[in-house]
Amino acid sequence: MVELRKFPYPYTFGFSISSHVDEMTPAEFVDVHNFINTERMTNKGVGVGLDIADSFWFFSGANDNTITLFKNSQTLEKRLHGILIEKALQTGHIDTFHSIGDYNYSYPGKVLSRETIESLFTYLNSLGVKIHVQINHGDAYNIQNFGYSGDNPATNLYWSDLAVENGLKFNWGGSLPIN
Ligand SMILES: [Zn+2]
Repeated sequence: MVELRKFPYPYTFGFSISSHVDEMTPAEFVDVHNFINTERMTNKGVGVGLDIADSFWFFSGANDNTITLFKNSQTLEKRLHGILIEKALQTGHIDTFHSIGDYNYSYPGKVLSRETIESLFTYLNSLGVKIHVQINHGDAYNIQNFGYSGDNPATNLYWSDLAVENGLKFNWGGSLPIN
């Protein structure tokens, strides 16, 4: 009987690694990706040349030092370093949502809406980018996350349907079991 192998010969298993954008500044993003994605000499030593990607935020509600694509959700004005994220999205070096934004210690209820989130997907489509993975991480202020409003059709922050329509396949619940 001929059947498809689970992994191409001679491999028997696989695993994935993703860098996580929490509290990352634009300079740290460049440092980390120079090290993990290239074999150049970097300030962390010789790069390891691995095809490891990252997660990203569209906005940050409270921490302006964090790397984010846009200044805020009201204007969708791209930050100066937003071009880094845009290029990384297009090359696959960013392939994961970290929800829709970093709203730790803030609250997206008055500054974010489903209409804005729809325009984010329009923007991603204009880049030819589909995101297949979502990190559902953050403190309880992040009501845009799944498990709060993000997957509740009765709210104005419902976006899980948009994510799936636009390519989302995997969601990490945001915590790891301890045992
Ligand atoms: Zn996180």
